[in-house]
Amino acid sequence: MELPKLIDALFRENGALARSITEQIHRLAPIVSKKLERERIKIMNFCGSHEWVTTHYGLRALMPESIELIPGPGCPVCVTPSSDVENVIKLALEGYTVYTFGDVFKLPTVKHYKQDEVGSLAAARALGADVRIVYSFIDAVEDAKKTGKPSVFFGVGFETTAPSYAVLFEKGKVPENLLFYSSLKLTAPAAEFAVRLHKSKGLVPVSGVIGPGHVSSIIGAVSWDFFPKEYGIPAVVVGFEPIDVLAGVLKILQDLYTGDITYTNLEYRRVVKHRGNEFAQAEINKVFKPVDAIWRGIGTIPKSGLDLREEYSAYNAREQLGIKERPWDYDLPPGCRCNEVTLGIAYPTDCPLFMKACNPARPWGPCMVSMEGACAVWARFGSTERITRIVSEVK
Ligand code: SF4
Repeated sequence: MELPKLIDALFRENGALARSITEQIHRLAPIVSKKLERERIKIMNFCGSHEWVTTHYGLRALMPESIELIPGPGCPVCVTPSSDVENVIKLALEGYTVYTFGDVFKLPTVKHYKQDEVGSLAAARALGADVRIVYSFIDAVEDAKKTGKPSVFFGVGFETTAPSYAVLFEKGKVPENLLFYSSLKLTAPAAEFAVRLHKSKGLVPVSGVIGPGHVSSIIGAVSWDFFPKEYGIPAVVVGFEPIDVLAGVLKILQDLYTGDITYTNLEYRRVVKHRGNEFAQAEINKVFKPVDAIWRGIGTIPKSGLDLREEYSAYNAREQLGIKERPWDYDLPPGCRCNEVTLGIAYPTDCPLFMKACNPARPWGPCMVSMEGACAVWARFGSTERITRIVSEVK
């Protein structure tokens, strides 16, 4: 199918605009490629939801060959270390009520593949442990108040989720019987880590970054200005319509072409402010402190996590229950390349287990669990089937 017709089919009412943006991308790509002396121009999307948009709408099919849209580490479930899940499983089996989100419930540990180990919170519940799925921290707070049982909330997420925890602690709403096990992560240190890794490994360097939209609504678009300033690469904050991502790619190419390298809050100003949500930032800072954190399959990234401050140590599950952080050990199941996928070094289809031993019904590795995981997204939308169907509907 010719590219303009495909674009009209995919973008419908935005067809003309999408055609114009795509034409400009095709015009600029070879010029930028020549200027940078790179055959490939790698653009990393940090956020799992941007990977969803990119794959679901087949945006890679609209790119010239030289443009490579790679996934990044923006799926909090994928990067939650196996040791954290194992610690929480142990607490569940010891009799604590454990609250967590639905995708964390299914997250397999590195022990999952051993038949004689309890490899997920779902498996612990099957053995009789009290593991409860909640939609939010406030649901867990309300439920723990009612039961009065010794309980633990397994807190997973990025800066977007952290304020919902912080506000309840700060307002004194969390009951004494509910401890908090933090596996919270910060996005900017991981994005920086990924970009540095491509450079240090002698891979084609990352030429531009599409920053996370929801996270930026909290931390502010300005949080990404270190990419232009320190690494000389443009960063854009965009929304979650396919046209947003296309516009982000074009802006990155324009910056690379003119040499005026900036960070840009492109057209997501409807949600993201320059300095973000300062109230939410203040709440996070009152309750949490930055700590070194383990990212699954990757290891420790300095100051890339959040844990409760000393004032809230009575709620800190690790401190109250004497849980020692063990040094990171390689924590992916055999054959899983999730770490390479989250760092944009491999695509899900590079993994020999993709859609064989590992699929959404039976995830083998962590990137196949959440809808923000690149493997789960590619498993559902990575074929040309959907695009073919849309096109046939339009004909
Ligand atoms: Fe890991 Fe499964 Fe993805 Fe392979 S397909 S990298 S096993 S999550």
